Amino acid sequence: MKSLKINSELFILNHGENYILYLPLKSVIVIVNEDTIKLLNAISEGKNIDSEMEIVDKLIDLGVFEEPILPFDNEIFKPTDVTFLPSFSCNLECLYCYSEGGEFITSKIPLKTAKKAIDIIIKNAIELNRTEITVGFHGGGEPMMVSNMPFIEGVIKYTEEKSKENNLKYTINAVTNGVDIDKFDPKWIKEKITRFNVSLDGPIDIQNHQRPRRGKNKDSYTPAIETIKFFEKNNIDYGIRTTITQYSVNRMSEIVEHFTKISSLKSFHFEPLFECGRCKTSKFTAPPYDEFIDNFKKANEIAKKLNVTLNYSGASDGRISDKFCGGAGENFFVTPDSFVSTCLEACRTNEKESKPFLIGSFNKELNEFEFDQEKINILKSRKVTNMKSCADCFCKYSCAGDCLIKVFKNTGDLFDSTNSERCNINTAITELKIKERIC
Ligand code: SF4
Ligand code: SF4
Repeated sequence: MKSLKINSELFILNHGENYILYLPLKSVIVIVNEDTIKLLNAISEGKNIDSEMEIVDKLIDLGVFEEPILPFDNEIFKPTDVTFLPSFSCNLECLYCYSEGGEFITSKIPLKTAKKAIDIIIKNAIELNRTEITVGFHGGGEPMMVSNMPFIEGVIKYTEEKSKENNLKYTINAVTNGVDIDKFDPKWIKEKITRFNVSLDGPIDIQNHQRPRRGKNKDSYTPAIETIKFFEKNNIDYGIRTTITQYSVNRMSEIVEHFTKISSLKSFHFEPLFECGRCKTSKFTAPPYDEFIDNFKKANEIAKKLNVTLNYSGASDGRISDKFCGGAGENFFVTPDSFVSTCLEACRTNEKESKPFLIGSFNKELNEFEFDQEKINILKSRKVTNMKSCADCFCKYSCAGDCLIKVFKNTGDLFDSTNSERCNINTAITELKIKERIC
């Protein structure tokens, strides 16, 4: 007689007349019938069952009765990547911008501060026996602005020199709205930047409504498309990320179709707007979660026909983690004010929601970065396994407690995702992705 105890990380999902047994930590997804579910219920209620049945052996092989093993590391804060938010300047006036880019007089990261950050990641890479470092540029505002050009060039030059000196490889990434890339030397762009991520919200009317250019000419679509053509022609690695709002939610299928016409990419990132930053003044709103889910499903069908995939951050395909992102005490983002943040949306030091993520700053007198280890430790402990609100959720190891700052803005507690509308989206799209993996 075998003694059977059901794996505490087993989840059961409905699947038409059948069910899915989902063991995320073992990447097991199998369809079973109602009899199997009755058997599992009987076992969990401690009833006597015939443990010599063939189905029991099959369930044992799948790991249904194993003790779960969590395969996650708990590394100390020793980043080998750094991302610079050079300034808050921006050439666009996106109606939902989280940092209200271009709105106020901006500080800028001094190059000598950036060099100190690069020294840190190089030292860490050597100590950790890594062979590569990564340097990125992000907003704040738009990083690829002409006004940021001397800073970006200086950072890349220093990265090249120091990497060579220390026998390390390096990668340079940049996020861009694609509007002023033509002001940079195309040959330099091709040689120096490894990968771009372009923010583009769809066809011309959606893009120009949601992401208008600053000044009289509101057209940001035309230059962004020219940038994509330039990337395509020169084989420059890039991705496209789109923000779905209430204004665009019913056109998600059309947006996918449009993207496949302007780009040869095989996947596109769709993210529902989370209201913050400029939304307060523009009154721009997030898509209702049920409309986002319905339209994501429709767009996903179109995407399959067009042989591309749609991604959404709260439901990543097959990923298993206890942390949603490097916001949980891993990222090293340097803000325009030379603070260190682990979250891109926590780049304004005057916003109270930024506080838990601001883990350090550059001390001009000492000429070095200083870090707050206590804050880092709190962020490091922000794992889904420490979140009661996620304990019974089947997507806990893919969603991993969701975007930290969005959860914090909703509940005031990094560890409490209760009543989050995004949970509806995360669970619905994760279920869709799980079912796709068995079809
Ligand atoms: S916490 Fe959310 S907004 Fe912040 S870096 Fe992570 S995914 Fe981005
Ligand atoms: S409860 Fe919500 S935040 Fe937690 S894992 Fe599930 S979907 Fe994510």
